[in-house]
Amino acid sequence: MSQRLIDLAASIPLTDNHCHGVVRGNVERADFEIIATESDWPEPHGMTIFDSPVGIMMRSLCAPLLGLSKHCSPDEYFSRRYQLGQAEVTKILLPTTGIETFLVDSGFKSDNVLLPQEMATITPGTKAREIVRLETVAEGMARHTTADTFITDYADALALAAKDAVGFKSVMAYRYGLDFDPDRPTKAEVTKAAGEWLAEVATQRTPRMNHPVLLRHILWEAVDYRTAIQFHVGYGDSDIVMHRCDPTQMTEFLRRTVDLGVSIMLLHCYPFVRESGYLAQVYPHVYLDTGAAGHWTGLSSPTIIAESVEMAPMSKVLFSSDAFGLPELYYLGTHVWRVAMGKILQKWVDADGMGEKDAIKYLNWMANENARRAYRLL
Ligand SMILES: [Zn+2]
Repeated sequence: MSQRLIDLAASIPLTDNHCHGVVRGNVERADFEIIATESDWPEPHGMTIFDSPVGIMMRSLCAPLLGLSKHCSPDEYFSRRYQLGQAEVTKILLPTTGIETFLVDSGFKSDNVLLPQEMATITPGTKAREIVRLETVAEGMARHTTADTFITDYADALALAAKDAVGFKSVMAYRYGLDFDPDRPTKAEVTKAAGEWLAEVATQRTPRMNHPVLLRHILWEAVDYRTAIQFHVGYGDSDIVMHRCDPTQMTEFLRRTVDLGVSIMLLHCYPFVRESGYLAQVYPHVYLDTGAAGHWTGLSSPTIIAESVEMAPMSKVLFSSDAFGLPELYYLGTHVWRVAMGKILQKWVDADGMGEKDAIKYLNWMANENARRAYRLL
């Protein structure tokens, strides 16, 4: 049996098309238990996240890299990482990922995490590019705009934020659902909606963009840039209603944008990986990844990663870690994708269903080239 694809997948440099920054400063146990889950609450009855799929895999795969024995106890693991400190754990784990280019979503809890350019300084020779979150731009200008000037103020703020970015991100799934009205709202509708939203956020400590009309407006503003727009799809924290995060709910929006020069990047996709694969086959501007499914599903992740290449063309599947905060998540997300994709391609080559030359080409596409094309990376 050949090992060629397995070995290549283990070592190929990666473009991570969706990740966040690493948390600054050392991480206390209570914070660790929350960052290592999509839940907003700690495990009940004194139980720990270390006994969930991601925690089990952390104690199996990350422990030896931190000088611990494989499958060590939760307390052994945490006290070792605490003693080393977050910065040191980052310095150990991030270079082992083989990520060469990070596309960093800078719009989530950005006060407390490394900026895109800081992410690129941890491993020599790596690059980071920014992805701008549409809702965060609107929230940032909420205190400095009016209903009448919202349209021009948002256009200006987005242009400024997008200056050095390679794409946009929409969290429509969190703020409304993917079953949004696909029509572009009229100027009058946007002005009226801006008045409603600004009155609402005037009493909020932190403005939150959740007005259905404005969410559609800012999305269509991004479409005008004819670049890549990422959509959060599927699972996420307790803000989402899962069945409204099925990407087939936005089929009409995909139909309307098919000829507009935009690339729609479906991120995460769990458990709608097959639905996303279908959309990526049917619509030429749709792509998918299984970011975070890798680490959150732990030992079961090969099944989900395999679903991502069931139907979508090989030119439409991308790698991402969707890691946030903990360096362990970058390592695990990368490692499980490398192992699973290497085994899938090797199996197809061994069965003589795919030529080895093709398999090597597809591996490189999924690891790098598809991202380079969709985000027009230089
Ligand atoms: Zn994410």
